[in-house]
Amino acid sequence: MENDGFIVIEGIHKNPNNIGTIDEKTKKVHGPFKKKQADAVAKSLIQKNVDNFYHRAWVVKKELEINNFCEECNNEDESVKQNLIIHGYKICKSCNLSKTIFPI
Ligand SMILES: [Zn+2]
Repeated sequence: MENDGFIVIEGIHKNPNNIGTIDEKTKKVHGPFKKKQADAVAKSLIQKNVDNFYHRAWVVKKELEINNFCEECNNEDESVKQNLIIHGYKICKSCNLSKTIFPI
């Protein structure tokens, strides 16, 4: 089901615009939910923590569970999480760069 299998990840971030900087000790995972439900949960978590600049909640596809392994080269790199959020796929910065320079 394409609408199933979304999780919400909340926590305190060093940089609230970057899920890769989440503090693992504060990280909480909710779900899985359907997409709409996940959006609603994330929204309410963000509203509840509106005074905390470093708190963020993210809606993430469950099968893309957050880890740092690049799907292209299988290397672990901190940039994979960031690229997952920005581009929607799990790719490290060096693979992303080579794709940008040499599009196939
Ligand atoms: Zn890679």
